[in-house]
Amino acid sequence: MLNARELKVFYGVIQGLKGVDIDVYDREIVTLIGSNGAGKTSTLNGIVNLVRSSGRVSFLNDDISRSQTHQIVRRGLALVPEDRQGEGVVQMMSIQSNMTLSDFSLQGFRRAWKWLNPQKEIACVKEMIRELAIKVSDPDLPITSLSGGNQQKVVLGKALMTQPQVVFLDEPTRGIDVGAKTDVYHLIGKMAQQGLAVMFSSSELDEVMALADRILVMADGRITADLPRHAVTREKLIAASTPQD
Ligand code: ATP
Repeated sequence: MLNARELKVFYGVIQGLKGVDIDVYDREIVTLIGSNGAGKTSTLNGIVNLVRSSGRVSFLNDDISRSQTHQIVRRGLALVPEDRQGEGVVQMMSIQSNMTLSDFSLQGFRRAWKWLNPQKEIACVKEMIRELAIKVSDPDLPITSLSGGNQQKVVLGKALMTQPQVVFLDEPTRGIDVGAKTDVYHLIGKMAQQGLAVMFSSSELDEVMALADRILVMADGRITADLPRHAVTREKLIAASTPQD
């Protein structure tokens, strides 16, 4: 579904990603693992063009390297960012508004020129709340009334509302409780069963080894190992994540 070739990411003079090649297939769960600063966020952000990058990225054989992020989302890719508080949610807005925030989702709710169809929007939000097992009494409540885990599920819901074919999740379980983590694991499995490709980053070996079909280990802005699940051992992961001098 997705190929990246020689993908590099630049932060001014700093090179966050030093040329990676990635292939992601449908129904596949691919995990990026590596220590802080290894290049996981840069990879995900580079693919959807949120940061300055070079190289070639193609989705279903179409070159999307020069597309803007909103065009990439429209094509069927979705990214759930690492910084939930800063980039994932708008703190002042309700749960419902946060979930339907993507302009692409909102277009689906438009009844006629510029008017939204509130019934359709509410029905979709309720369906998503049920699907993601979000513990909430009223979708009109502020997003800040939810626990961290439930806020994370709203952000996942926002991504799924765009009906993506490939979903990128940056550290989706960081800082959430055990119950919400389990719900996120189920959701990732379900997305893959439904034919989506899922790529998520993580620093927790256990969740990676339990969920991933394939593991890409990163160190110092490069992919240092590409391991199918059956070939993975804790020792191999640790060895490949250690930067070589
Ligand atoms: P973490 O788990 O800490 O998020 P990561 O594996 O996602 O780490 P990246 O955030 O992609 O790693 O960072 C890769 C490299 O790019 C690091 O050397 C980092 O210091 C650098 N980098 C990332 N963001 C910026 C930025 N905004 N400005 C300058 N350098 C950056």
